[in-house]
Amino acid sequence: MRGKRLYLACNIVKNWSSYLLGVPQPVPVGYVIIGTTFHCNAKCIMCNIHKLYKEKPGLCNNELELPALLEKLKESEVIKKINHIDLTGGEPFIKEHLDDFIIGLFRLPNINLVTINTNGLLPDKIISAVSGILKSLPNGKFFSVSVSMDGIGEVHDRIRGIEGAFDRVEKTLAGLKDLRIEHPDFTIRSNAVIQPENIDHLGELKKYWGENKIAGAFGLIQTPFYTLSRDAGCNSVPFGKDDIQKIKSIGPKSKGADYYLDHNCNRPLHCFAGYASMFIDPFGNVYPCNFLAEREDYQMGSIKADPVDAVWTSRVARDIRAKVKKCPYTGCWNGCEVDQTMIQFEPIERVVKAMTLGMLSYYKMKKLNNFQ
Ligand code: SF4
Ligand code: SF4
Repeated sequence: MRGKRLYLACNIVKNWSSYLLGVPQPVPVGYVIIGTTFHCNAKCIMCNIHKLYKEKPGLCNNELELPALLEKLKESEVIKKINHIDLTGGEPFIKEHLDDFIIGLFRLPNINLVTINTNGLLPDKIISAVSGILKSLPNGKFFSVSVSMDGIGEVHDRIRGIEGAFDRVEKTLAGLKDLRIEHPDFTIRSNAVIQPENIDHLGELKKYWGENKIAGAFGLIQTPFYTLSRDAGCNSVPFGKDDIQKIKSIGPKSKGADYYLDHNCNRPLHCFAGYASMFIDPFGNVYPCNFLAEREDYQMGSIKADPVDAVWTSRVARDIRAKVKKCPYTGCWNGCEVDQTMIQFEPIERVVKAMTLGMLSYYKMKKLNNFQ
């Protein structure tokens, strides 16, 4: 454990050096996010991914197949240094060979956690795949499934654009809970996107999670390029003052979220996307974060054409990191990147507190009073 902490601390120092001086190469200290596919069987009102292949049917042939992706990851020294991979979509469980891919990820040297996000609309397929993965899960490695739930019953169906979606999600969750009887370390989560359509129903959802013993989490709606909401951009925040009070009243969401909400939805810390993390889209393109995915001017390279390490250490990647330091999306609260960024700032907070015997806090000095 001590060795792991020291290793993490060294990588955080490396990343700060890379951030400030441009050398050495940074190390993804959090996780790598992989968009497995842009196929999706939902029709969510806050996301246009489900329209992509209807509008451009030939494009789906460009997706990287998961066995090929696994080979690319196996060859990478950068990937060998990380311990957590997060899988997203589209709907990942639609993608062919997903279960074998996940089993293969767990065989990578340092990977001890794989998380996956699903809309839960394919109960039988999801339960069967997860059952197979859990049966082959090596000891000491952890698998976590997060099922989207934006409201109860009709609210969820309306947001996801599918009649009966809520019933299917409930069936998925019930099946996953059954699997947990034999695999107590298996983690099931649920997550909701707070948006104008469910802002008056958040309490019901929280109560439902509590009554059904589901670990639920709220995230704030954003309009990233990843969801192909190009018109909106990352700076659009659809909440007024009343909405913000409603959001705050359901309790803490994540570190710093209250600060963000109290300060006109402005991100309080520099973002470390592209230093502490990377995003690989379904076509094998690499970006600093999932929010900037599909913007060509933020594409670090393609792992279809080049090895992962060549893309990560390329001159283009270095230039894009310089752009991330001045990321124009100051209103971005990307739940996936907040944790990665916090990993980078946490040691500064600890050192300041230790050196002043708890009298000073880095966050408080930055006037981030609600940040802990
Ligand atoms: S939010 Fe997720 S489930 Fe909904 S359309 Fe987008 S990718 Fe599909
Ligand atoms: S602030 Fe960070 S996570 Fe948000 S869009 Fe910019 S680089 Fe991506």
